[in-house]
Amino acid sequence: MGRWKMILLIVGIFLLIFAIVTVSRTFMTESRQPEPMKTEVTIDEDKAIRHFSEALTFKTISYQDRNAFDYPEFERFIDFLEDTYPAVHQQLEVERVNDYALIYKWSGSESGKKPIGLTSHYDVVPVLEGTEANWEQSPFSGTVIDGEIWGRGTLDDKIGVIGILEAAEHLLEDGYAPKRDVYFMFGFDEEIGGDEGAAAIVDLLEERGVSFDFVLDEGGAIVENMVPGVEQPVGVVGVSEKGSATAELTISGSGGHSSQPKDHTNIGRVASAIAKLENTQFNADLRGPGETLFEFAAPEMSFGMRYVFANKFIFEPIIESILLKQPATAALIRTTIAPTVFQAGEQYNALPEQATAIINLRVMPGESLEDVKKFIEETIDDDEISVSVSGSEATSVSSTDSWQFQTIQQAARNVYSDAVMVPYLMFAGSDAKHYDRIADNTYRFLPVLITSEDLTRMHGTNEHVSIDNYLNAIAFYMEVMKESDRK
Ligand SMILES: [Zn+2]
Repeated sequence: MGRWKMILLIVGIFLLIFAIVTVSRTFMTESRQPEPMKTEVTIDEDKAIRHFSEALTFKTISYQDRNAFDYPEFERFIDFLEDTYPAVHQQLEVERVNDYALIYKWSGSESGKKPIGLTSHYDVVPVLEGTEANWEQSPFSGTVIDGEIWGRGTLDDKIGVIGILEAAEHLLEDGYAPKRDVYFMFGFDEEIGGDEGAAAIVDLLEERGVSFDFVLDEGGAIVENMVPGVEQPVGVVGVSEKGSATAELTISGSGGHSSQPKDHTNIGRVASAIAKLENTQFNADLRGPGETLFEFAAPEMSFGMRYVFANKFIFEPIIESILLKQPATAALIRTTIAPTVFQAGEQYNALPEQATAIINLRVMPGESLEDVKKFIEETIDDDEISVSVSGSEATSVSSTDSWQFQTIQQAARNVYSDAVMVPYLMFAGSDAKHYDRIADNTYRFLPVLITSEDLTRMHGTNEHVSIDNYLNAIAFYMEVMKESDRK
């Protein structure tokens, strides 16, 4: 055999082994989706829709200034809940925290199991002044028309509060009794951070030694055409929340007349520091919730995509470079840097005495605010620029390989049978971060099938939800309670 033939043969054998290994790995990926189970839900739909519609008429609006809250309206909303859900209010223990936050405890028949918690909030963001006329239906009308329910809070997040209470009222009417304790916890100030609502609820429960198997809050939803290669709708369940850091870069001193500047003024120094940060960027790495997202999604993908993800050990650099191309997917695999404020200079012919830049960073789970500060200082490499970092750390990462996560998956698939349920990393905050302290797992998922337009409507104009989504949400909350009792 000639030398070249020999080389070709070796290369050929190598390629064959490579193909066998990678293709068989692709075929070995097993679906991580539980089989949907048929559910029989017979609720009085008209009545349930009327309840939701009325709940939307209360102007339980959160303002940054707590003094601007219309508290009597919050009181009326609580009265409305009492009138609307008599069985819940008779058979569950109801407690008010800081007057307007609500805890409902449904005692289970078996002791020895940890409780589960379902949480949402009934405050809503204001309707921006001047945009009221842009609403097709008035934002606090609760109008039901053409299969849609309209109003502020239909998605964020009265659908959670009403969905949970409808589910409980119906289960009680059916004579259902949970085995484990179930808590419903409703905040009234989530939109401004939840300090008086969710945080106070958590303080109280922590004092009493309550600890949850899992707490379910709003967060992800079921979306279409978001995960490349997956044809079915994908339900994303937030299993962690990125941290939010505010870094302030300041330099001061050496003003003077602009006719004799040094090579770099204070503006130039800080601008160059920002340029360095943007050019360097934090390390991107497909790990944590971003990685598990694809582990759950890959088995449902077309062959090509499944091949790539099943052989991540080879293709990881390629996957990462693809994810980095879009801001939404880049944010999944690295700490992001967004310079948002720059202040310097007073007058066109005077050198700026001081320059300050503020950068908002969203921090990956596993990295800390301290790491962020160190990264900035090392990258800008300028001792005269002082760096301070404040904000909130990323939350812990909840399990995905557990009955708790499977419960969320199963409940969602019992209602949305074709939804592929995957874990996900949240970039924005919700009340769930407070529950991190007293829950083994915190999941963030709103059981509705939404479009990217719906997302912009959440805090914007024309927020609405379909009747089907609303009824599915009620069914989902019933399933979550029943499913977790089987574990
Ligand atoms: Zn919300």
